Amino acid sequence: MNITIEKRQDPKAKPDWENLGFGKYYTDHMFIMDYIKGKGWNDARIVPYAPLQIDPSAKVFHYALEVFEGLKAYHAEDGSIKLFRPDANAKRLNSSAERICLPQLPEEMFIEAVEALVSVDADWIPKNTGTSLYIRPFIIANDPGVGVHLPDLCQFIIILSPVGAYYPEGLNPVNIYIEDEYVRATLGGTGYIKCGGNYAASLIAQQKAEENGYTQVLWLDGVERKYVEEVGTMNVVFVIGDEVVTPNLGGSILPGITRDSVLQVLRSWGLKVSERKLSLEELYSAAKSGLLKEAFGTGTAAVISPIGAFFIKGEKISVGDGKIGSLSQKLYDTITGIQWGNIPDTFGWIREVK
Ligand SMILES: *Cc1c(COP(=O)(O)O)cnc(C)c1O
Repeated sequence: MNITIEKRQDPKAKPDWENLGFGKYYTDHMFIMDYIKGKGWNDARIVPYAPLQIDPSAKVFHYALEVFEGLKAYHAEDGSIKLFRPDANAKRLNSSAERICLPQLPEEMFIEAVEALVSVDADWIPKNTGTSLYIRPFIIANDPGVGVHLPDLCQFIIILSPVGAYYPEGLNPVNIYIEDEYVRATLGGTGYIKCGGNYAASLIAQQKAEENGYTQVLWLDGVERKYVEEVGTMNVVFVIGDEVVTPNLGGSILPGITRDSVLQVLRSWGLKVSERKLSLEELYSAAKSGLLKEAFGTGTAAVISPIGAFFIKGEKISVGDGKIGSLSQKLYDTITGIQWGNIPDTFGWIREVK
């Protein structure tokens, strides 16, 4: 792929590396490529980061024709720049695009574009422990016209944001509200893809949880409201007795890359791992009987997010002793160790940016 590079003449001031937060700062450049029906993808370019000019009638604004990805680049101690499983993000972006009729993109093109942009803005990759460069690739339909039909014009864009350690004070367990009114996804819908529309539909439950003093929402299945599906914008994993349980991907659950990595690591340690249906009732009785040892969310941003307690209908279900579990901590250390290059990557997950 031929990528033209227009470098910014007036580089921005770098942020305070000690207080990056999440998604607060963006780098000097962005990647853009156009799609024209009949012609395919063309005009790959890296240009100064700036507002886009898009026709107000563009379908992305009216019908949420947008899909996205999230991955990170890491600055290893040996000075190399590492990406974690970018091939999996490329595949998932295509699966998302296919579901809402946006054009797909060759996987090599996705990876090449990510690498090119990360190289150009390499001086934006933070180096402090726990920090990384968050990469947000997305596809939008910028096709003007409010008629509802397949888009003829799209753009694939990548922006970069240096981010801090997700939990600067260490991994503190959070309290979760079990949502029994709103649902995130149903079979046949878009629960298994990363599209902006899913997030628009889920914010109300997040707001409700926060108003009631909880950090996040535990989503139940959309049909029976009986089975556990995800937590907030993460996949969810439980340690029940000597079994590690996570809801099976059945079409309404997002196939998280962190989820998959966690399962692979657990299996490599010889642990019993089940991907199966888990009812709220089973979770409740496991907690009551003391079998529920650990619970955590998994996702690119936080990697592992320990859960301290669940609340349903005014009742509190505590997990373990309310502190981070040993397996949760070990998984966090192992996966982030591989990402930052401190633990050998025996899974073939790391790709170095040249
Ligand atoms: C992105 C996302 C996840 C986590 O996926 P990762 O690939 O691990 O970052 C989980 N659930 C939802 C709804 C998501 O959008």
